[in-house]
Amino acid sequence: MLERPLTSGERVMLFNIFGWSIPYDDMTVDINDSDDGGVGNSITPAGVPYMSRLKWRGDYSVLKDEDYQIQGTFIHEIAHVWQYYHGYPSVLGLSRLRSKVVLIMHLDMTTD
Ligand SMILES: [Zn+2]
Repeated sequence: MLERPLTSGERVMLFNIFGWSIPYDDMTVDINDSDDGGVGNSITPAGVPYMSRLKWRGDYSVLKDEDYQIQGTFIHEIAHVWQYYHGYPSVLGLSRLRSKVVLIMHLDMTTD
């Protein structure tokens, strides 16, 4: 558990995409240290992104050029946060039990 609030840079970055449609003050980011769905899998159950251990960063707004895919994964997971707050459950949001089947489905959708 490395749960943290959004950084000020992340708020600026995300505001350019999501505007006022998500509650930045209430949001946190955590790490998926359970290896659910594989070591490289990031998941967002119930509106909280759990970034894979391989993609965990302290600030997704400050990245080296080669980390753009990691930033892309973060923004992808924030889209699931948007879904959570707007009543469109993500695949994972449907299952707080985090069944392996559901996690594998999520992995398949985000492996490119
Ligand atoms: Zn996804």
